[in-house]
Amino acid sequence: MIDVTLESVSKRFARGGDTAAVDDVDITIAAGEFFTLLGPSGCGKTTTLRMVAGFYFPTSGRIRFGTEDVTRRPPNKRDTGMVFQNYALFPHMSVAQNVAYGLKIRKVNRAESRRRVEEALGQVHLAGYGERRIDELSGGQQQRVALARALVIRPKTLLLDEPLSNLDAKLREETRTEIRRIQKEAGTTGIYVTHDQAEAMAMSDRIAVMQSGRVQQIGTPQEIYHRPATSFVARFIGRSNVLTLPVLAATAETLTVGLPGGGEIVVPAPTDHGLSQGGTALVSVRPEHIGLTSTTDPGALPGRVVDLEFTGMATNLVVDTAGEQVQVAAVEVPAGIAVGDQVGLRLNRERMWVVRP
Ligand code: ATP
Repeated sequence: MIDVTLESVSKRFARGGDTAAVDDVDITIAAGEFFTLLGPSGCGKTTTLRMVAGFYFPTSGRIRFGTEDVTRRPPNKRDTGMVFQNYALFPHMSVAQNVAYGLKIRKVNRAESRRRVEEALGQVHLAGYGERRIDELSGGQQQRVALARALVIRPKTLLLDEPLSNLDAKLREETRTEIRRIQKEAGTTGIYVTHDQAEAMAMSDRIAVMQSGRVQQIGTPQEIYHRPATSFVARFIGRSNVLTLPVLAATAETLTVGLPGGGEIVVPAPTDHGLSQGGTALVSVRPEHIGLTSTTDPGALPGRVVDLEFTGMATNLVVDTAGEQVQVAAVEVPAGIAVGDQVGLRLNRERMWVVRP
């Protein structure tokens, strides 16, 4: 178990044009942490993971494992276990042979190898499957074999690149809990790549949200959800309304902003908001933090329902308020509510948050 540090890491590819695939990334991952690189396709998360694994060397910057500089060390000298999206198992070999592969390369003797393969298969709940052929296993079981193969070398870091994307939705949910259990039990530092925000939220101790090669925010799932740093993070994690509102007054930790159609509200802001009276703020508010009331509620914003969808858990509405289309997710709605109805909106100001562009 070891901490992993990326210092000003950039990667440019020869055929990548002017833009860096990874652009000046600083990340410190604590020993034993389950850390996720999250972002849309092409944001640079796989390239970042591959630099930690040693498959790519950074164009500039440093990577450290503990105090050791591993920036230009080859992959087989890094003590990392890697699990890929397609598992990359050898189909003609047995489960045990697949798992033993890394030990064979490291010339571990046969008795020790057998013991460690059994141990690794036990860790992933596949004890007794050693003699099976890979093609006799389900997708979920193959995924566990890939995990066992990575764990058997007792890696200091376990690197996982979208390991669940070939599984169906239900199995994906079960397996994500499993992977976290296995990582914690194995006592290794886990670095996980996904574009699925729900998966990242459910599994991670902390998440780095990436966009266009840059880290937008690093934080716990709660921090990222409730206090997104940028409008991109607010919209990428769950759903959010990002309202553009005039700043009427500012303190170190709050802004007073004008609301669409009149009225004002005091909302919490990060201390480095840099905004003052006369400026314009971007304020994030999640659909579940807006309540529906009647048009006669004096504190409410008047609006008109333009779309409505019942999902079981909540009713999703789009409400037009002074030309601004606001998404609302309400657990309770008035009986018979329909498109075209006039409603009042109550914003939960405690849950609003000022974001950067
Ligand atoms: P995905 O989820 O689609 O795998 P990602 O976030 O993992 O995306 P990367 O694979 O890291 O993104 O790619 C980041 C950027 O670098 C992309 O613009 C991609 O086209 C580019 N890129 C990646 N590998 C190479 C390469 N070997 N040569 C040139 N460009 C590359």
